[in-house]
Amino acid sequence: MITRFAPSPTGPLHLGHAYSAIIGHDRARAAGGTFLLRIEDGDPLRCKPPWDAQIFEDLHWLGLNWPEPVFRVSERREIYDQALDRLTALGLTYPCHCSRRDIALAHGAPQADDHAGPDGPVYAGTCRHGITSGDTAAAVRLDMAAALRHLGDQTQLSYYETGPYGSGLQWVDLNRLLTTVGDIVLFRRDTGMAAYHLTVVVDDAAQGVTEAVRGADLIAATGIHRLLQALLDLPTPEYHHHQLICDDNGTRLAKRHDAKAIAKFRAEGATPGDIRRRVGL
Ligand code: GLU
Repeated sequence: MITRFAPSPTGPLHLGHAYSAIIGHDRARAAGGTFLLRIEDGDPLRCKPPWDAQIFEDLHWLGLNWPEPVFRVSERREIYDQALDRLTALGLTYPCHCSRRDIALAHGAPQADDHAGPDGPVYAGTCRHGITSGDTAAAVRLDMAAALRHLGDQTQLSYYETGPYGSGLQWVDLNRLLTTVGDIVLFRRDTGMAAYHLTVVVDDAAQGVTEAVRGADLIAATGIHRLLQALLDLPTPEYHHHQLICDDNGTRLAKRHDAKAIAKFRAEGATPGDIRRRVGL
């Protein structure tokens, strides 16, 4: 049994991260398995070295251990490129030259990313049948309709959920992905790096992860991950989506909630046991 905690060093780890990491660590320990740390630093625009170092410090302070060296997304560019090439060779991708502004305009009005599918508004497909130019600044998108045709007559894919949200076998309705998710970005134009959905399935498989422990905010993305696993012949781990830790007003914690940062509690004299108790563990 192999679990992982895969934070992005874009800010201080807060109570929600502590909760996720401790659950993964405890589940691995209870099963005699392994807990892995993976640094998802694939976005050089948002990831900063001080936050990176702080992740190690905070997790060690909490009493968590993992084998070194850890996987770092920023160091695995070629591996993701291979996966992307494979999807391209299957005819399932296309370059996209649209800016955020183009995409917003195609929708008639700006939309808040949080109010649509897991990746924001479904892309209108402007570049889907465009001419491939040599523009290296293009994003690469998955042609969702072509991907579904590639899977033939399969209409559903399954994965196993071990968390509190619908324990047991879960089904991903592939046709629904067309309307709720659409042509997702696999390679980002702004960062020049593979996008999270691609890196996460490649890395979970490369690390032999058997149970991906993560927040319930990623349940919607799991359908995308399951699809990419099917297209790339990658194994599907079990998923354990846990509840999200909220602040005193019931709002989900985000990295900007410095007030709930693990480092802050620690500076104020809290013990790792206090952190466990605060998140109900
Ligand atoms: N890097 C992601 C995050 O910090 C984690 C994604 C995952 O666990 O699959 O939200």
